[in-house]
Amino acid sequence: AKYVYDFTEGNRNLKDLLGGKGANLAEMTNLGLPVPPGFTITTEACRHYLSAGSVPDGLDREVAGHLAALESRMGRKLGQADDPLLVSVRSGAKFSMPGMMETVLNIGLNDESVHGLAKQAGGNDRFAWDSYRRLIQMFGKTVLGIDGDLFEDALDALKGRRPDTGLDAGELQRLVETYKGIVREQTGREFPTDPREQMRLAVMAVFDSWNAPRAILYRRQERIPADLGTAVNIMAMVFGNYGDDSGTGVAFTRDPGSGRQGIYGDYLQNAQGEDVVAGIRNTIPLEDLERIDPPSYDQLVSIMETLENHYRDLCDIEFTIERGTLWMLQTRVGKRTAAAAFRIATQLVDQGLITMDEAVTRVTGDQLAQLMFPRFDHGAEKKKIARGMNASPGAAVGKVVFSSERAVELAGRGEDVILVRRETNPDDLAGMIAARGILTSRGGKTSHAAVVARGMGKTCVCGAEELEVLTAERRFSAPGGVVVSEGDVISIDGTTGEVFLGEVPVVDSAVVEYFEGAEPDDELVKAVDRVMRHADGARRLGVRANADTPEDAARARRFGAQGIGLCRTEHMFLGERRRLVEELVLATTDEERQVALDALEPLQKADFVGIFQAMNGHPVTIRLIDPPLHEFLPDLVDLSVKAATHEATGKDRRLLAAVKRLHEQNPMLGLRGVRLGLVIPGLFAMQVRAIAQAAAEVPGARPEIMIPLVAAVQELESVREEAVQILAEEGVAALIGTMIEVPRAALTAAQIAEAAEFFSFGTNDLTQMVWGFSRDDVESAFFSRYLDLGIFGVSPFETLDREGVGRLIEIAVAEGRSARPDLHLGICGEHGGDPDSVHFCHEAGLDYVSCSPFRIPVARLEAGRAAL
Ligand code: PEP
Ligand code: MG
Repeated sequence: AKYVYDFTEGNRNLKDLLGGKGANLAEMTNLGLPVPPGFTITTEACRHYLSAGSVPDGLDREVAGHLAALESRMGRKLGQADDPLLVSVRSGAKFSMPGMMETVLNIGLNDESVHGLAKQAGGNDRFAWDSYRRLIQMFGKTVLGIDGDLFEDALDALKGRRPDTGLDAGELQRLVETYKGIVREQTGREFPTDPREQMRLAVMAVFDSWNAPRAILYRRQERIPADLGTAVNIMAMVFGNYGDDSGTGVAFTRDPGSGRQGIYGDYLQNAQGEDVVAGIRNTIPLEDLERIDPPSYDQLVSIMETLENHYRDLCDIEFTIERGTLWMLQTRVGKRTAAAAFRIATQLVDQGLITMDEAVTRVTGDQLAQLMFPRFDHGAEKKKIARGMNASPGAAVGKVVFSSERAVELAGRGEDVILVRRETNPDDLAGMIAARGILTSRGGKTSHAAVVARGMGKTCVCGAEELEVLTAERRFSAPGGVVVSEGDVISIDGTTGEVFLGEVPVVDSAVVEYFEGAEPDDELVKAVDRVMRHADGARRLGVRANADTPEDAARARRFGAQGIGLCRTEHMFLGERRRLVEELVLATTDEERQVALDALEPLQKADFVGIFQAMNGHPVTIRLIDPPLHEFLPDLVDLSVKAATHEATGKDRRLLAAVKRLHEQNPMLGLRGVRLGLVIPGLFAMQVRAIAQAAAEVPGARPEIMIPLVAAVQELESVREEAVQILAEEGVAALIGTMIEVPRAALTAAQIAEAAEFFSFGTNDLTQMVWGFSRDDVESAFFSRYLDLGIFGVSPFETLDREGVGRLIEIAVAEGRSARPDLHLGICGEHGGDPDSVHFCHEAGLDYVSCSPFRIPVARLEAGRAAL
């Protein structure tokens, strides 16, 4: 295998192999943009290293060859004493994981080459020693695993109240000695001075950082597969820390918050890479670069235009200016907020850069779902205490906490929290995930907090500089003498950047109002409208709703549902009516049973009339009752306790006997669904009659009767026979079909299709039975361990497991259609509203997906994307 690619050899399509950063560095190199020369070690080499524990054979030789080529190109050797080449070693996985993995800059410096570097820089000793101390600090922390605070504290002690740029060459030289001492003390060894050794160790540290706890956590959150590995980019160093004629920055070609075109970014003079994101000093807006260094600014603007036209999308970039020369260090199609994604997609259409088809593929169902979150009520009274940057939109209310641990702890108890920090770093990730929102007092729109929050779709206000955050004292102060302590409630608006004291009421989003029927008026809603119309025109899958009440059915219709795919009738037996079901189950004679059924039938009929009316001529799939019995019967222990006391009535005792008789160790695999229908005479018949009579009353009603939990065609046949007869008696037409929830049903689909006009895949139960995971228990018990181990990347109850459950569905589709070519096929498990699962359903050839009313727009959009 080839494990190393020069930047001139790759291109943007090689992300799997070169990672996003490597692929895009190659792309920019090929576009003729100013990228420092270098090469990329592939993700394949990383995967080999992580599984075998050592680098693959031949890698060292390949790296040496590429390094030699780089050296001859630069006319300097790595770490050469009198005139050193220095390199950076940077991680870069297929999917961007901002700040989660490692980077080491200034590789090649040691006690000799530091003088060579100073000479190279025209006698700039300060710069050389600053670069050297940075190397030891980064290398010490990331490669040698030394606590970074030890270095930070030494730096702080030396500089006092001065900024880091205030240190002179002599002081920095002393700092290098201190740092070397820290390395000696912490590792028992000297800081490695052999440049090649430095590089080799740094490469392995980058490989290892793939499995750093924060990287694992981030991948799980972002559903990035655990087995991809990272590439490593080795690039000739360019220096932003030469002096005030140098600097480093990050920029977006459009506002990642709103989508507006322009120059958005932050710049830091006399600084190196990590300083900007880490928020060490306050950055200046990129516009100010126009004043500081007009030629570089103009060149940057023109490169940004080139990149946008080339990638036909918003790009973000990292750049460095070295004594007036601009260098591009990174670009990628940039992360953006959900609102910006919709706006940008339609803006690019209007600019003629992409088609409407492409625009639909540029937005996701998850982004649409985010836009449907509530926002703060504009009319409500609020006490504003500060304003920061609107880093990631949304409305979050919660108790203030000041540490990641505390955020996790309180959120674990079900509390809503807002994580407040001066600035965040990758160690705060767990707290950011646990919090409803994130508030920082420092850092710009490209700070760690902002980038990570946007990626997670979490509300974030950053850089609220009026706030003084006193982490150790667990409080912050705001102008006007306001002091907010841990546990106090605040509200933050990530769309405007405002921070409010106390709880501010939230209201529906404008996008929800649009789905509810309001005219699209603002720019965002218009963009959503255009995208949704196009997606609807493109999709082949129908979209139905899981709804059990006329209200839900009506909302589902407004949201675009083309029918009901699952009406769970047991939900109609809860509350008051539960008593009637109890009596039905406990009845010992036909008479008692009939009394209970007669009481239920008119209630059922009225339910169905309401739903048929709400659906106004669209199909309604009604599932006959499927209650896990334990949900309907009184608790065995409670009853036993009661029976043992003297309060128990005769009925209680009768109930206890029955509950004991019916008690199941494993109710989810017990007397449910069709089994119950076959055991309790008259129950299904009552339901079918109620459906038929309701349909007869509502003009245009289109009932479809669905039998749950079927495993064998014989079960279905006997229910079907009775249903057909009742429908004939009532003079009503209805399809009769089945759910496919038991593996045996999928495997015998050809037989089952003989007795079913439609199948609906009940993937909740099907997943439970295929994996043997109790759907009621496992998510808490061991899923997090399974996610850590990479047994799956996301819970199979959330996203359909294509290989196992999906394979059964494919078998059932093929067999079912071969027996009955016009068999109608849908899905009604929770997966029906999950983006990835919708794509699977499209590919598997289903006719529709059915999901909860609020997910319907998401399913419509994803069905459109799947078809494009
Ligand atoms: C299913 O099992 O996927 C299903 C839709 O039925 P329920 O969730 O009601 O068991
Ligand atoms: Mg089920």
